[in-house]
Amino acid sequence: MGNQGWNLSTPLYRKPTDNLTMLHFSSFHPKHIKAAIPYGQTVRMHRICSEDEECDGHLEVLKGALTRTGYDAQLIDRQFPRATVRNRNDLFRRQTRAATDRVPFVVQYFPGAERLCHVLRDLQHIINEDEHLTKTFPTPPLLAFKQPPNLKQIIVRSKLPGSQDNSIQSCHGGRCKTCQIVDIDTTIMRGNTSHLVHGRYSCDSANIVYLIRCRQGCPEAWYIGETEQRLRQWMNGHHTTINRQEGSFPVGEHFSGPGHSALDLWVTILQD
Ligand SMILES: [Zn+2]
Ligand SMILES: [Zn+2]
Repeated sequence: MGNQGWNLSTPLYRKPTDNLTMLHFSSFHPKHIKAAIPYGQTVRMHRICSEDEECDGHLEVLKGALTRTGYDAQLIDRQFPRATVRNRNDLFRRQTRAATDRVPFVVQYFPGAERLCHVLRDLQHIINEDEHLTKTFPTPPLLAFKQPPNLKQIIVRSKLPGSQDNSIQSCHGGRCKTCQIVDIDTTIMRGNTSHLVHGRYSCDSANIVYLIRCRQGCPEAWYIGETEQRLRQWMNGHHTTINRQEGSFPVGEHFSGPGHSALDLWVTILQD
């Protein structure tokens, strides 16, 4: 081939919209996470840019962006060389971290939580004094942090109350007799007024307020009741009053009346 002396070079591409937004240094995060950001970004540029000059240019831009985001010069000056001294070829190899069998000690992160590491080490001798414990925990536990709820999680709800996700469904239970008579419409109309059902229910729901109507549209047949039981269990009781034609129970009276049967019964859930 006559291409000797030719090289492939790879520059870093930055989208026009990239304004190098990073975690602000004052953000409530463990120190090691903040220290990892200048390092990780430097590794990334070192890996992508094949030409040192090109890389240096990007690192200058990165330095400016980090400084604007509150990172102090000392930290940047410490973390940058850690990445740039590494052989570029090594950066393409997947890093595998040695597996550890140390037991994790997980706490929600708080300022100063890193110091627990020393506490765990100082108290290890108590464990070592016990022959069983020392076998289970031969080394101090590995301190691990979990994130406390952030402002977004506390303030923002992804669902608007009562807008979506309201449903009434049959429970698809094999022996459920209510599945066939449950009305799945979440808007209940009476004259010009409507009631919107908020929540997700099925004939298996318990602790609910329910509405029984007649499929033939008899205007007087609106029965509202409440039960702690599951709707499908509770409805069995209503079926019994219909089958026995028990006139002392309004539901039994209507659906065992002339031209009616238990098949005319229509039930829905109003709220819990
Ligand atoms: Zn059911
Ligand atoms: Zn009726």
